[in-house]
Amino acid sequence: MVQNVNSTYTGGGVAEILSRLVPLLGELGLEAKWSVVQGTEAFFTVTKKMHNALHGRQDGLTPGDYSLFMETSDRHLEELELRGDIFYIHDPQPIGLVRRKKELGGNWVWRCHVDVSNPDMAVWDFLRGFVDQYDAAVFSAPQFSRELPVRQFLIAPSIDPLSDKNRDLPQDFIDSVLRKYRVPQDKPLVTQISRFDYLKDPVGLIEAFRLVKRSIDCRLVLAGGTATDDPESDKVLAEVQERASGDPDIHILLVPPQSDLEINALQRASTVVVQKSLKEGFGLTVAEALWKAKPVVASAVGGIPLQVKHRWTGLLSHGVEGTAYDIKRILANPELAKSLGDNGREHVRQNFLITRHLREYLLLFLSLAYKEDVVYL
Ligand code: UDP
Repeated sequence: MVQNVNSTYTGGGVAEILSRLVPLLGELGLEAKWSVVQGTEAFFTVTKKMHNALHGRQDGLTPGDYSLFMETSDRHLEELELRGDIFYIHDPQPIGLVRRKKELGGNWVWRCHVDVSNPDMAVWDFLRGFVDQYDAAVFSAPQFSRELPVRQFLIAPSIDPLSDKNRDLPQDFIDSVLRKYRVPQDKPLVTQISRFDYLKDPVGLIEAFRLVKRSIDCRLVLAGGTATDDPESDKVLAEVQERASGDPDIHILLVPPQSDLEINALQRASTVVVQKSLKEGFGLTVAEALWKAKPVVASAVGGIPLQVKHRWTGLLSHGVEGTAYDIKRILANPELAKSLGDNGREHVRQNFLITRHLREYLLLFLSLAYKEDVVYL
């Protein structure tokens, strides 16, 4: 039995992955469970600060923040029903559950989805106190691994090509979604799908879009929702709305949770998909767009370069001007756009589908279960 624990059932890449992998593990005959730790808004404000700090942003955690984290973590120890041979704990929010390891036994894996290559050291040192108690840590990209006394594994995330988020869609459905959100299809569409989060840099993308518009007429679609473990999104959304106000070519779409078919349709309707993140663990939205054979312009940060091989499976951009330049390149060159999209889809087929992910999950479980039998040559 494998028990996964994270902090939200909806919103964000971790929930997206678990919603596909957990049932699939079940279909293979492996008992797999997914639980979520609960917290107040104050707790998630602290964990969002931690998330930002791990990505290198100085968010200044106070002693009170650490105390609140520990109090909530203590409550999780009491409240959450934990049972299994493998406990797969995602990101910092539930990290303290490892304190039940002695009592429960089993193998404990900390799955880090964040780019921790250059963290705020105070926060990282605090989390290290927990990470060191695990049996293994799993990271998405090689540059995220840290010096740790526990075994480390590299497993990239994945998308499920058969899910509503990624399956083929008829054109009339795509058209109906655009009509619903009042996005005319009279001009090329430049799209970013993301939670409203500073690290996704929606404001920077609006600036880049304005530079593009000086020479090419197009529309910008910023589509996203909120996640229950991200209290910062309302503030970011308000700022984005203010920056875009009065521009009829900028469409800010608030997409409710579980709108997978609609997100899929928006991605498929796009001329170019952008991911202008300042920091990124992996960026599942990039894989989703590439799978739809879309030309992608994405920042060269975190796990994105695993997916976007510059000028082969997309364009890796730097800053506002660089992003604008790359968007223009794609809009002005349909042949380039097509070849990037086609190569991107193939790259995802070979590397980032759920079947590869599942195989690596199972290999990880095997290597944890049989670690004593490993023969070192
Ligand atoms: N997503 C969604 N609705 C939204 C915004 C995002 O379903 O309004 C999905 C998106 O399609 C992707 C995931 O949430 O599957 C985001 O994962 P990613 O790794 O790109 O970023 P994260 O939010 O985890 O930082």
